[in-house]
Amino acid sequence: MATPEPEARWPLPAHPRILITNDDGIRAPGLQVLENLARALSDDVWVVAPEEEQSGAGHSLTLRRPLRLRALGGQRFAVDGTPTDAVLLGLHKVLAERPPDLVLSGVNRGANMGEDVSYSGTVAAAMEATLLGVPAVALSQMVAPGAAVSWAPVEQHGVALLRRLLAVGWPAKVMINVNFPDTPPEQVTGLQATRQGRRKLGGDLVERVDPRGQPYIWIGPQRDESAERGGTDLDAVAAGAVSVTPLSVDFTRHDLLPTLEAALWSI
Ligand code: MN
Repeated sequence: MATPEPEARWPLPAHPRILITNDDGIRAPGLQVLENLARALSDDVWVVAPEEEQSGAGHSLTLRRPLRLRALGGQRFAVDGTPTDAVLLGLHKVLAERPPDLVLSGVNRGANMGEDVSYSGTVAAAMEATLLGVPAVALSQMVAPGAAVSWAPVEQHGVALLRRLLAVGWPAKVMINVNFPDTPPEQVTGLQATRQGRRKLGGDLVERVDPRGQPYIWIGPQRDESAERGGTDLDAVAAGAVSVTPLSVDFTRHDLLPTLEAALWSI
């Protein structure tokens, strides 16, 4: 597959080829919301998404069993694997002849902020596309625990946001993570560039006994939100704004290399 040159990819063509995927599965309502956004930007939209929900799958690849790619008619395909599998097969199989200009992932049912990004299949799909040289955006719609999702904020503001992002562009090895607030769309306060906040999941372990008398542990939804605030994704959505976070897929802390190099050299 020809990988587009990082410098050459902006601006996108007038009619970009867009691949969309998600981690909530091919039947998820958020995928249809995303397809509608993509079709407002282009008439060349392809869907390759997991057969089943893969929330929390992170950036996992399926290596120990074969994958099945199911054609659903038109430009829609389902993969019985993870979001990363879907992007890989989307780029290297379904669109092997001509790669997409843009990959969109989502719209996730629920926000992906703070440490969520390292567990999120939605974000991982965008990371995978980025690693393969295609610009990518992950989109998530915040929802209150136990409530039905209102897609209205992303439906109303998604296209304008994507148009602005695509007009600016972003570097290779960077993906964009977008979270829409759980706010009536007319009350959305704006678009905000943010940094990744902190709210660790996993401190809330629910221990119960199953109907057959065996104990089980279920990772609960409560999170420890950090007191460290200001300019984060969490702050933005709390203020009713759409949060836009640039995430590096190169995990290296380049600023620490000189110190580390000096310390290691002296051993
Ligand atoms: Mn999900």
